[in-house]
Amino acid sequence: MPNALPREHLPAGHVICQAGAPGDSAYLIEAGSVEVLSQEGIRIAVLSAGEIFGEVALLDQLPRTATVLTLAPTTLMRIERAHVQELLKRTDPVIRHLLMLLLERFRNRSGHENIPGLNPEAALDSDAANLTLMLAQDLTHAMANGLLELAYQPLISLPERNLIGFEALIRWQHPLLGSVMPTKLINLAEKTGLIHPLGLWVLQRAMNDWPTLRSYCQPGMLSTPFISVNLSPAELGNPQIVESIARFLDEGGIPPHELQIELTESAVIEDLPSAKQVLQKLAATGVAIALDDFGTGYASFDYLNTLPISCLKIDQTFIQEVLVSPRRREIVQTSVNLARSLGLISIAEGIEDESTSDLLVELGCGIAQGYFYARPLSLQAIPKWLEEARILGRISRGD
Ligand code: C2E
Ligand code: CA
Ligand code: CA
Repeated sequence: MPNALPREHLPAGHVICQAGAPGDSAYLIEAGSVEVLSQEGIRIAVLSAGEIFGEVALLDQLPRTATVLTLAPTTLMRIERAHVQELLKRTDPVIRHLLMLLLERFRNRSGHENIPGLNPEAALDSDAANLTLMLAQDLTHAMANGLLELAYQPLISLPERNLIGFEALIRWQHPLLGSVMPTKLINLAEKTGLIHPLGLWVLQRAMNDWPTLRSYCQPGMLSTPFISVNLSPAELGNPQIVESIARFLDEGGIPPHELQIELTESAVIEDLPSAKQVLQKLAATGVAIALDDFGTGYASFDYLNTLPISCLKIDQTFIQEVLVSPRRREIVQTSVNLARSLGLISIAEGIEDESTSDLLVELGCGIAQGYFYARPLSLQAIPKWLEEARILGRISRGD
């Protein structure tokens, strides 16, 4: 029913908007053509089907800067400011800020001195945008100048308490802001596209350090030693990621099963068909795949049957309350059982005390990770930690 669509059908010679008059919408030309005249009446452009005009009015409430009239019978679709403002609210502050900057420059060039209060949130946007732009610049610099670090958090096999491997976790000490939270850093890298070089840097560094790390490890009952590296959802979208991983392994002479890639359950669920494709390619290289933050992402476990994963990492929110909450304990027990029945290893993350560690042994969990054993450590700090952890009996003696 074409008549049900909100369209304006105009004859030739009709003035759609007048320079200096208020305006709160832009127009998309569906058929016909229009001419755009400057405030002095000089023709600036002729636009036809598929083109948009009046778009400046979508961003601010100042008068129109040009006159537009139809050259032929023309059909237009109106784009309302309110609708676009709603969309803008949901975009990144950097994009909003850049848009406003562009608009301000355009308005100034067209003879408007100042734009008063474009938008009450503009100042906030500009702070957030400037911070993001500054951090992105600093992160690029940090990557290029070797200022990022990896910390390694020990993974302990249960019940024998062998040091079975490490999870690599990124660390960035910003010269002005201090240590930047990894989640914030990853988020920034994802927004700015820096995630691809950053992810490759993490993989490369972890694999360079792995021979040293491996020399501290001992095999457990369920697994041989391995290094675990996080991959963000954005990195999964990089078509070269599997090849890069295979190349790093090859160059480092590292058997693929000694590398585990961690992906959050929610990232995998978000786009299951494409995650499945990449994971199958990845699994075919022999690399192990862990579902991180397991239990937080989804209500159905159907997908577990179809993905080539080898490990479930039970989210720390369940582990940290497992002693006091019978429901959490039930969830952890069910997750451990589920992993076992599917032939997967279970890792419990966030173990902060001995009683929790003992309970996890009782529940049959395969691998433990948490502050009770060790915080994420620099490569250099590991030998001293290992010595102390052995004296305290937290790790087996390794003989
Ligand atoms: P994650 O992968 O779930 O990593 C585990 C987080 O839990 C780490 O935080 C670790 O320090 C913390 N943790 C470990 N044991 C305990 C404990 O007993 N108690 C408590 N309260 N926390 C514990 P971190 O290092 O701040 O990393 C946060 C998140 O940032 C990671 O969560 C991961 O999603 C992301 N991340 C870190 N490094 C990388 C990286 O190299 N690449 C990607 N893509 N993401 C990374
Ligand atoms: Ca992880
Ligand atoms: Ca986790």
